[in-house]
Amino acid sequence: MTHPLSTAAPETVKTVLITGASSGIGEATARRLAAAGHHVVLGARRAGRLATLAKDIEAAGGSALPHALDVTDPLSMRAFVQAALDQYGRIDVLVNNAGVMPLSRLDALRTDEWDRMIDVNLRGVLHGIAAVLPTMTSQGAGHIVNIASVSGLRVDPTAAVYSATKHAVRALSEGLRQESRHLRVTVISPGLTRSELADTIADQDTKDAVAGQMAIAIPAAAIGEAVHYAIGQPSDVDVNELVVRPAAQG
Ligand code: NDP
Repeated sequence: MTHPLSTAAPETVKTVLITGASSGIGEATARRLAAAGHHVVLGARRAGRLATLAKDIEAAGGSALPHALDVTDPLSMRAFVQAALDQYGRIDVLVNNAGVMPLSRLDALRTDEWDRMIDVNLRGVLHGIAAVLPTMTSQGAGHIVNIASVSGLRVDPTAAVYSATKHAVRALSEGLRQESRHLRVTVISPGLTRSELADTIADQDTKDAVAGQMAIAIPAAAIGEAVHYAIGQPSDVDVNELVVRPAAQG
């Protein structure tokens, strides 16, 4: 049935690549999209977790392809995308979700952690875009979903570098959107969400403070639902920005 708001074709089964699918939001998104009938291609460094998730999805009647991925390595990203093309012949959606959040004050000078956030949260997204753009351009269609954060909309102490990476993801998403008429580009900015993200915080005071805030966190499935909504719209409807946070978050 045609969507009441559009003359475009109804939603079909899509091939969806998800980075950071081994836990949290990426895993929940994979489960949600697979349950909706899409083919999900699962990328992350912890290959064992991906294999278990793929088995779970297939046992529930879904379709999943696990593939080890380090988003900081452009060659690894290209191999991930090629594996999807070899298996399914096209790429409809890339969800750039992989991220790390080792928060600390700038004067703690944890410069290795600054670099890691830039490498995973920003360069990783760029590597993903670079790896799928040629295919999406030749297909004449494609959808890139970038998982940013409410930290891409505000800045807080200990989150300066993390916020900088997430502001950058929003900026480059808007640039990508403006440059292309055949691509859809969505930024999803989660608030406090239950996942393993705070495990990447090494600074103990910051870790304790974040642990206290997580009491109000929403389940990762809430973000998976937002991804499902964005990619399920008719092909001429581009959902550009979604902010999904706990009702109790300030
Ligand atoms: P998790 O820590 O549970 O998941 C992060 C994922 O990123 C893991 O699957 C991890 O897999 C993957 N990852 C990290 N480094 C790399 C790498 N170099 N290459 C490939 N994959 C990598 O946290 P979330 O689910 O919360 O995080 C998902 C996204 O959501 C992130 O971008 C985060 O910034 C964002 N976000 C989360 C919020 C929250 O409150 N949880 C709030 C706002 C935004 P592996 O270690 O196996 O490689």
